[in-house]
Amino acid sequence: MRKPIIAGNWKMYKTPSEAAAFVKELAPALKDYPQAERVVIPPFVALPVVAAAIAAAGLQLGAQDVHHQEKGAYTGCIAASMLAGLVEYVIVGHSETRQYLGVTDEMVNQKAKIALAYGLKPIIAMGENLEQNEAGQTEVVCSRQIKAAFAGIEAAQLANIVIAYEPIWAIGTGKSASPDQANDIIARSIRATIAELYGSEAAQAIRIQYGGSVKPGNMVEFMQQPDIDGALVGGASLEVDSFTELVRLAIQAKEL
Ligand code: PGA
Repeated sequence: MRKPIIAGNWKMYKTPSEAAAFVKELAPALKDYPQAERVVIPPFVALPVVAAAIAAAGLQLGAQDVHHQEKGAYTGCIAASMLAGLVEYVIVGHSETRQYLGVTDEMVNQKAKIALAYGLKPIIAMGENLEQNEAGQTEVVCSRQIKAAFAGIEAAQLANIVIAYEPIWAIGTGKSASPDQANDIIARSIRATIAELYGSEAAQAIRIQYGGSVKPGNMVEFMQQPDIDGALVGGASLEVDSFTELVRLAIQAKEL
């Protein structure tokens, strides 16, 4: 059984003091749902204050990105060693970092490997853009991204990796992929590629989230899909009520 994982990616929202006030309400609201992993992913500067506030409620902490090099003259960047011991998860390859920060498939692979080396669990985000989707290339693109992201990663490390399938055209646009469509891509392209690389048992074991305009109104339909194990949520994770509702609905849909 793959434990559902609902992660709230706050992106560039909430100052440290806003984050502290927010998690003071969020942590007790989410405390009673241990059937799912509940991950809060604030901006870097809010990590320490959020860490202190959520631990007792059993929530987990994630960072939004990590640099692909161990250390060096990289102004403005954060290394895996700086996150180790502070967060459990780190998003790598989010489409906004691919689009605005020049993150390539190769860098996603390096980020995932360095995160694992420092005991962090990468949430590897991937997915096709609108043009690729409309050209019918979704499966090929997703398979290629998975192969690139997992290059050199050992089978034994898969238990510490989560994949987030996020069709780029669905992020922050209010347009989500249909739940059937998303499940189909996850099953026929993403899990199939993991099976090709690591075998079918590994493909069945790895957790895969859907992301892109997930909200309480569509959560149940996504979570009822057999190959979708959770959600990576932007906008709807910024309010206590909607984030809590997403977690509750995930557990309900999975009958846990
Ligand atoms: P959204 O963002 O839920 O606001 O579409 C999802 C994401 O970027 O992970």
